[in-house]
Amino acid sequence: MKQSEEKVLAGAKVLVVGGAGYIGAHTCQALAKAGFVPVVLDTLETGYREFVQWGPLVQGDCADPQVVADVLAQYQPVAVLHFAAKISVPESEQNPQLYYEHNVVKTLAFLRTLLAYQLIPVIFSSTAAVYGNPIQTPIEEDHPLLPINPYGRTKLMVESILADYHKAYGLPSICLRYFNAAGADPEAQIGEAHDPETHLIPLVLRATDTHPIKVFGTDYPTPDGTCIRDYIHVCDLASAHVAALHFILSTSGAYHMNLGTGEGASVLAVIQAAEAVLGRPVPHEFHARRDVDPAILVASAALSRSVLGWTPQRSDLKTIIEDALRWAGQSHLK
Ligand code: UDP
Repeated sequence: MKQSEEKVLAGAKVLVVGGAGYIGAHTCQALAKAGFVPVVLDTLETGYREFVQWGPLVQGDCADPQVVADVLAQYQPVAVLHFAAKISVPESEQNPQLYYEHNVVKTLAFLRTLLAYQLIPVIFSSTAAVYGNPIQTPIEEDHPLLPINPYGRTKLMVESILADYHKAYGLPSICLRYFNAAGADPEAQIGEAHDPETHLIPLVLRATDTHPIKVFGTDYPTPDGTCIRDYIHVCDLASAHVAALHFILSTSGAYHMNLGTGEGASVLAVIQAAEAVLGRPVPHEFHARRDVDPAILVASAALSRSVLGWTPQRSDLKTIIEDALRWAGQSHLK
């Protein structure tokens, strides 16, 4: 995008559905730094009011046509970023109804209201879970889409809906397939605060002798036997959304792309990196594999880098863990 076009967009409002959550709030911060005004629509069921610091908050449900119509009419956003979703793989297996209703039905209702307003671009939070068990890695975007749990299937359904809506109605969209989001705002104003917390890095930082971190699986076909993931700093995810927004506002189409670093780290490598940052051992114990964990999930990062002109800046493990630790040290949201 040319500089003159970026100036025109300065002060433009962007609707951020689920902007009070972990990745949504960091993206609002990045949007504000880039000159946009993020307007957050969030039920606050799992998001936090105090994470909404860079623009107005409308507390409400994206499936409520009246709430969404009012927000669109009042703020006239130039685009939508849609983060609102249930995100736990095990929970999606125990309660798929919750996941199909939250992640698919509510999104359909939201899109219905949006289509009646204007064809503004939608940037959608998708996931590496749409690939299922990778056949080859790093995973390129044309890898088969064979999700192995309801969570991944809900995200793939919305990807398909957005592709069809582009074809039929001209709705522009980008689906961003996140690998493992981690870390926190370096100023520790916002950070990761899931309840219950299930993600590796916050749990590693909380591990104690009485509650050691459980390492799930030591017999995977990886160099140290533990699972390998592509950890990406949440601030890098946020800057990718800003780049995606500039991109989709200057073009049209329906896109999907990975957001990862292209590098993998094992569970033991994460523990060792945390030990180096903490300057003490991290108590851990070895457990059997969980059913649901693929051995290796690493993104091919080439497409997002070339299309969006974006590169991760803070996604080395040391920086991710330092930032997560700073946030964990000062946050009361645990
Ligand atoms: N993991 C682990 N112990 C935990 C939580 C996670 O060994 O208490 C492993 C998990 O098996 C996976 C990696 O850490 O290989 C990252 O898990 P996380 O839940 O953070 O993200 P996921 O990849 O499951 O989306």
